[in-house]
Formats: sequence, C-alpha cells, structure tokens
Amino acid sequence: MATEPATDVAAQRARVVEQAQASDLRLVRFLYCDNDGIIRGKATGVSGLGSRLETGIGLTVAMQAFSMLDHLASVDGMGPAGEIRLVPDPETFVIAPYAPRTGVVLIDMLTSDRRPYAADPRWFLKRMIDRAAGRGLRIVAAFEPEWSLAALDPSGSWVPADQSLCFSTHGMNDAAEVIDDIVSALEAQGLQVEQYYPELGWAQQELSIAHRPALRAADAHLLYRETVRGVAARHGLRASFAPKPWADQAGNGCHLHFSAWDLDGRTNLFSDTSNPQGISPVARQFMAGVLGHLGGLLGLTCASANSYRRLQPQMWASAYRVWGPDNREAALRLPSPYWGMEAESTNVELKACDSSCNPYLALGGVIAAGLDGIERQLELPPPVTVDPHSLDDEERARLGATRLPQGLSEAVAALREDFLMMDALGDRLSTSYLAVKDLDIAALAERDEAYEYEAHRFAY
Ligand code: GLU
Ligand code: MG
Repeated sequence: MATEPATDVAAQRARVVEQAQASDLRLVRFLYCDNDGIIRGKATGVSGLGSRLETGIGLTVAMQAFSMLDHLASVDGMGPAGEIRLVPDPETFVIAPYAPRTGVVLIDMLTSDRRPYAADPRWFLKRMIDRAAGRGLRIVAAFEPEWSLAALDPSGSWVPADQSLCFSTHGMNDAAEVIDDIVSALEAQGLQVEQYYPELGWAQQELSIAHRPALRAADAHLLYRETVRGVAARHGLRASFAPKPWADQAGNGCHLHFSAWDLDGRTNLFSDTSNPQGISPVARQFMAGVLGHLGGLLGLTCASANSYRRLQPQMWASAYRVWGPDNREAALRLPSPYWGMEAESTNVELKACDSSCNPYLALGGVIAAGLDGIERQLELPPPVTVDPHSLDDEERARLGATRLPQGLSEAVAALREDFLMMDALGDRLSTSYLAVKDLDIAALAERDEAYEYEAHRFAY
C-alpha cells in the first residue's frame, strides 16, 4: 500500500500543532466512524497533541462491535480486553467552527504493533482505492446528503422545524440563518459548497459539496455531518440525517456520485462523448458490477432499519435494481453532464445510499462491486427511462428490474451471501459488521415503530 514518506507526515504533524497553538485551541477531537455509521471519538488536550498525533489515543477493541443503540455485539476478540490506537491522519485536521476552541482530526485504527487494524473501515476503503489503482483507476466521489432540520417540541421530541415546500423560497428564508452559518463553517474547513435548496419534505435541506478523491470524499462526509449537526445545535435546532426521520415526510438520501479517472487525475475514464449516452465501456462495466452486487451492497449503503422506510417505490429514492439517464427512480442514475464540461462532469449516482452508512464502507463496497464488473466484463442491461414501478411484471422481468431488499435483514442476508463483498471486507471487518447489524435487527424487533424512528432521528 502506498504510504506517505515519514518526513512528510512528520512535517504535517508539526503544522497541525502549530495551527492548533496559533488558534488557541484547547481540545482536538480524534474522530472515527463505527460500523453503524455513528461518528465517535476522543479528544486530546492541546499540550499532548504533538505526541498523540504520533502515538494515537487508545480505544477499547469493543467499539467496533458497538451499535447505534450503544449495545455491544458479541464478537470474538472485541470484548473488554484489548486496545487499538486512534492515530490521526494529519491531512484531515480542521478547526471546528461549531465548538469553542476545538480542532478535529480523522484517524486510522492501528493495532498495538502499529499495523492497520483489520476491522478499520477507513483501511478497507484505502485497500479498495489501491485495488482500483492496480487497474489504473483513480476513483473520485461525492456524498450528496439530504437532512432535516428539527425543532424540539415541549416534550423534547424532534419535529420538523418548518413546513417548507420543495425548492421554495419560504423554506430558504425560514432556514437562511442556520444555512448561512453552515455554509460558512463548511467553507472554513475547505469543503466547497456546490448547491443548496430546501428539498421536498418539511424542513428537509440539501446542500452539496464538491467531489474529491475517494478517501477524501468519505472523510469530507464525516466532517460535513459533524458540521451540520454542530451548527444546527448552536441555533437551538437539531439536524437529522436519518433516512426517514418522520413517517409522513420525504426520506433523506445521501446519493453517492462517483467516476473513475486515470491515475494522474487528468482524464475522466467514465466519459466517452462519442457514445450517445456519453459513457465509456469502463463506466458501463463498473455500473454493471454495482447493479450486479446491489442486493448485498445495500447492506453497506442503506445500513439501518430506517433505511428501508425510505427505499419505497415512487419516493424518488429508488426501489428497483435499474439504471437510467436522469431517472430519479433508478438505483443508478446517470446524471446529464454540465454544458461545456461534459467530459469532466460525467459521473454515476447511486441513489440507494443514505447517511446511516459508514461512508468508508459504502464507497469501498461500491469500488469492490464496480471493479468486479470490469474484471468480469459485465454487460449493462438496457437503460430504464420510466418509473420502474409503473411497468408490469413481464416488462420488469425483461429489464431485470428486480425489487431491492425491503428490509435491513434482507440486505444483510444478501451481503452475507455476497462472496466478493465478504472477501473484500475481510474476516474481522465483515464479522464485526454483520454482528452489529444482527444486533440492531434483534433489538429493534422488540420495540415499536415510534421507538425506531426516534432512535434513528437522534443517532444520525
Ligand atoms: N429525497 C429523495 C431520496 O430519498 C431524493 C429526492 C431527489 O433528490 O431526487 O433519495
Ligand atoms: Mg435531493
């Protein structure tokens, strides 16, 4: 695996310490994302920052077996005995505009003998990026999150903060102050804002940021979630990335956009302007791989019980295994490229993805599936240019438009049976991941729907 020269890392660490001191920070949070997509971490006081950037902060091995409900799954080697180290990637350091005198850095999980921890999701994504590089591909991606602003009602429940209409200026005005602060906070951290609008559901927002190389795109999604929730709280509001925060409102997707470039990052290898659809054979095979593995992949990209309340037909969230140009009911949408930037802006969007995923696992899974499509030279089925739910069974069968898994247990079962995905994740990561999902499924089966909604609204 390509690692950066030690001197560069040392220089980066020194810069982080300098910046932290110059900005008068008191604490720096070392953050990671667990198997249930919860962002967690520990913070160091600034006086210990220099050494902890190198030696990390210890974490019980149990945390990769923790669930969104803070229950501990039973996984061999992930109990009360044993530690890993959270060792920062100094390139990810930012000052948190939503917490006083606080910095944030994202980490790699290392074992006590300083090797990558096999259950580290970020290491999984790094391995898939290397696998793509082995084929001459540099994956570029952007997570495109939707989320809901909530106010607290007198009982403390989270209710939609406004009753905005889709893309309406009422919604823009209602949310203008908090959105302005969020944009400013994102940009202060180097996350370039692309577009903003109130979406279809009450108080639902969509605010996209620019694409980046795959690892940085997943990192950015963590910083983004932290920022949105942190800034909203400072406005007396709550922000929820839950896939379906309220039963009667639109779901929050986190559509995953991706393309593959040459290793220099100069040429978008998904683009082929001589083809009527604008996509190359490599893009077609990659998409065919993603479609082929979509059942199991959903166990990584739509990773909570709440995800499947969102993935319903005719909700523009996708419910069928189809692709189509500009088709917002297709699991894979081929968005029209930008005028005058056709080659650079060609990309594919996986709609069947939401922010209850761990972005390292979701994107790593997409890369593994796409590369399998290239390896096996899979053929892309015909595009679907209508709502697949409006077709009759015969027509859907002709197009291979099968229904996506309809619950977390179905998706997790498909993931378990997907040999390629299991092999790519490796034993430690797949075992802990599946154990956490099984625990969620069992715990939520004992509770009612209202509890499930509330737990997801709060956790994500
Ligand atoms: N809210 C929809 C979803 O759950 C997406 C709407 C759209 O952006 O087209 O994915
Ligand atoms: Mg949207």
